Amino acid sequence: MIDFIKEVVNKLVGKKTEQRYCCKDCLCRLNTVLDGEATKEEMLYLQEHIDQCSPCYDHYNIEKAVKEVIKHKLEQRPVPANLIESIRGNINKNC
Ligand SMILES: [Zn+2]
Repeated sequence: MIDFIKEVVNKLVGKKTEQRYCCKDCLCRLNTVLDGEATKEEMLYLQEHIDQCSPCYDHYNIEKAVKEVIKHKLEQRPVPANLIESIRGNINKNC
């Protein structure tokens, strides 16, 4: 009986302290993964962690969204000429 209790306690304590993936490690890898510079292991590590940890999952999605916005801004795709024309047309109409 005592052994059984010990086992249960160990399981409970183990679960608390064991935490296979640490949030700090996860967040450290987050940028590496989002920059596409992570190894396969690092990507797996992050993926597995955010599957179980909702704060990190949220953080991941926010960072991802921010990076995507920055990326689009940096790309600065040339604006199609017809779009410029139509904007100009609209401006002229309003004047
Ligand atoms: Zn976490």
